[in-house]
Amino acid sequence: MAIERLVEPTLSSGNDSEEEKIEISLRPTSFSEYIGQEHLKNNLRLAIDAVKKRNDGSSLDHVLLYGPPGLGKTTMAGVIAHELGASLRVTSGPAIERAGDLASILTNLKDGDVLFIDEIHRLRRAVEEVLYSAMEDYKLDIVIGKGPAARSVRLDLPHFTVIGATTRTGSLAGPLRDRFGIIHRLEYYKESEIEQIINRTARILSTKILPEATELLATRSRLTPRIANRIFKRVRDYADVNGDGIIDREVATRSLELMEIDYLGLDPADRNMLRLMYENYGERPVGLTTIAALTGDEASTIEDFYEPYLMQMGLLARTPKGRVVTEKGRKHLQRTS
Ligand code: ADP
Repeated sequence: MAIERLVEPTLSSGNDSEEEKIEISLRPTSFSEYIGQEHLKNNLRLAIDAVKKRNDGSSLDHVLLYGPPGLGKTTMAGVIAHELGASLRVTSGPAIERAGDLASILTNLKDGDVLFIDEIHRLRRAVEEVLYSAMEDYKLDIVIGKGPAARSVRLDLPHFTVIGATTRTGSLAGPLRDRFGIIHRLEYYKESEIEQIINRTARILSTKILPEATELLATRSRLTPRIANRIFKRVRDYADVNGDGIIDREVATRSLELMEIDYLGLDPADRNMLRLMYENYGERPVGLTTIAALTGDEASTIEDFYEPYLMQMGLLARTPKGRVVTEKGRKHLQRTS
């Protein structure tokens, strides 16, 4: 069984209701509350203003957001719907099992509605094909009846907007990708933006945090809002139990030590992966499946969740022959062992 990691950027599945509830309460709803990702926000603001100004019944172009989990793709879908004054319908690639399921979602939409499809790269083939014409010209082709009596009909659909989210654009079929007018990669946040997110969370959860503690937590949050919020909640618990509820530098330092998160935001599993790679392969490249065999994780987990941050920090590099621990990675292992 996989071990639950604090720095895991996806929502935990076990105690999901608790974490999900808090996460929903922390979700920004408008551009002004959504911190960072300025380039994306500017592009979207322009596109949304244009739709509003035209006011001719046309909808916003379909939007594809990609990047590691926890960076704010779902949140952005909500913001877009809010800014458009539209309703948001949320689903995910694996949740739509048959073409009929998608047909029923689509026929229940209204003009201007936003349909958010998380993990869109995991849509089944047959479902994806229905989505093509729906996105392209707002038509739904369905077959009625069976055998010789079967006939195909075309239904008109409302003018809706799909917002797709994926951790990798590479696994998206070309024809699907081509149907998105706006394609954008979400970037890791700057430390100063993570500080703003932590301060916002502290305000919403009515917790006092001192600036030096905010600064410290921001350096340990993998530049990812979801992780910043998760670490914040753990530190808040620590401050409640071991102090007067105020998060100062000492409280933050001690609880980070307890969580075994080091000064670059790496946890024991990250360090273990780097160490296993280095001890077994030195400076030679290692294939993804070999790394997965070494650590006991799924290759996709390593690729989607852990590797992007290690690469962002320059601890791991990707070469055509595999992954290598960089010099910075080796030094980090020495410092933390
Ligand atoms: P993703 O869909 O990319 O996995 P989410 O949109 O679910 O990520 O974001 C995770 C959490 O991080 C949200 O609940 C929200 O509280 C917080 N968050 C994400 N982006 C921002 C942001 N730009 N500003 C403030 N908080 C954010």
